Amino acid sequence: MFNKQSNHWLNFIGGEWVDGKTSIEVSDPSSDSVFATIASADLGDVECAIAAARQCVREGRLTRQRPSQRAELLYRIGSEIRKLADEGALLASRENGKSLNDALGEFTESASYFEYYAGMADKIEGKSIPLGEDYVDFTTYEPQGISVQIVPWNFPVSICARSLAPALAAGNAVIVKSPEVSPLAITLLATACERAGLPKGVLSILAGPGREIGAALVAHKETNQIVFTGSVPTGRSIMRAAAENAVPCVMELGGKSAAVAFSDADLDEVISSVKNGIFFNSGQVCSAMSRLLVQREIYDDVVGRVAELARGLSIGGGKDNPDITPLVSMQQRDGVLELCRQAEEDGARLIFGGRAVEGLPGAFVQPTVYADVTPDMRLFGEEVFGPVIAITPFDSEEEAYELANGTDYGLVAGVFTQDISRALRASQSLDAGQVFVNEWFAGGIETPFGGNGLSGYGREKGQEALYNYVRTKNVAIRITR
Ligand code: NAD
Repeated sequence: MFNKQSNHWLNFIGGEWVDGKTSIEVSDPSSDSVFATIASADLGDVECAIAAARQCVREGRLTRQRPSQRAELLYRIGSEIRKLADEGALLASRENGKSLNDALGEFTESASYFEYYAGMADKIEGKSIPLGEDYVDFTTYEPQGISVQIVPWNFPVSICARSLAPALAAGNAVIVKSPEVSPLAITLLATACERAGLPKGVLSILAGPGREIGAALVAHKETNQIVFTGSVPTGRSIMRAAAENAVPCVMELGGKSAAVAFSDADLDEVISSVKNGIFFNSGQVCSAMSRLLVQREIYDDVVGRVAELARGLSIGGGKDNPDITPLVSMQQRDGVLELCRQAEEDGARLIFGGRAVEGLPGAFVQPTVYADVTPDMRLFGEEVFGPVIAITPFDSEEEAYELANGTDYGLVAGVFTQDISRALRASQSLDAGQVFVNEWFAGGIETPFGGNGLSGYGREKGQEALYNYVRTKNVAIRITR
């Protein structure tokens, strides 16, 4: 909800659109200029959101209905999101810098999450456990209660929908903390929920500083569950806060994921996966292919083809749908350029890019390729979150897995080979939450997603994610005779 004249947006708290005492400026990263503001929530707003959520949980506003009615509600939300997709995509592209097509994809994917979990809302079934003829025993799944969800800026709308849809399907009340740099388009999810008839108070979406508003929400005594998607340092501080109140968390953190290309790989498949894997959303993707490990026999060929790919990519503002769009902010751009500078100082071979884009005023970084990257370099183990790929040669299969697993992260991994046994051996050897074979980003909203190690714990997406949002209750009954 916003004031058209001033382009000032409001928070959605307890079912009402609420202004703030202060506001956050939102910039277009392609020109680095402010184009809108949004109310910044304060601690009073946090209490209002919690109070509204608590009331919904106590009254069972989502759970007293038959689950099939909740399923219908989720379908309606999906359909309202589809109606808002064109408007939302323009906004998401402007505040985030991403291409219009990708921004539209965020909205259609968000609608799909609601439709997918709508189909599961009435299938959250418990078990009957045999204890002999003197007892009846069964389990039920209850919602967690108040689910606090902290969202990052790279895909704010679809990452929000990814957790919000299963949480609502399971009957929880949800409070979302939107990211500071891209807080506008996500508010359209509240509009869709409101139009679809979500009971008042079940959802709040608050913009505000993470260290104050996010921190207050995760530390709140009445919070029953935390879903966090974001960086490792923030994840650590949230896990500490959660420990105080023994609150369960889902942690979707960063990654430094590797693709392993064997000498028998189809090189066209490798190159089209590199394009999508590291240059989609200008590399601001937690599961980006930020490392490419290539068997020595095809190494020079692959390095040459990746350079050619990077050289041929178009660069521009999101509305023109180029291959490379600006990063989300000048600060993000400067962080990426600093890691590039460091890579060169550490001895990585710059093949292409590595610099800001001359002649464009915004947060643009050239598509960048480094070869001969070794495990001792920062670029090998640190997440860049930009359009930068690090290429490393290997000789044996064993060495490939050792290199692939040689970081603190374990989000995704990929293997390119025509040998099915080798693909299966790779899937067993790669330490990651999901393994792609012959196509980066294979899978979908139906397939579980999450990481090992510093990439976090818990899985989102798919049927598996639904069980983040419930807790099991066992009921054991003695039969009197
Ligand atoms: P971030 O950690 O800086 O911020 C994420 C969110 O946390 C923001 O909404 C922020 O306001 C909030 N926050 C900050 N401090 C907080 C605190 N103390 N308590 C509670 N909330 C707080 O991350 P970012 O820069 O927005 O996103 C980029 C990071 O997210 C990358 O590391 C990326 O890999 C990761 N990411 C992971 C996934 C995944 O699914 N695994 C998906 C997207 C992004």
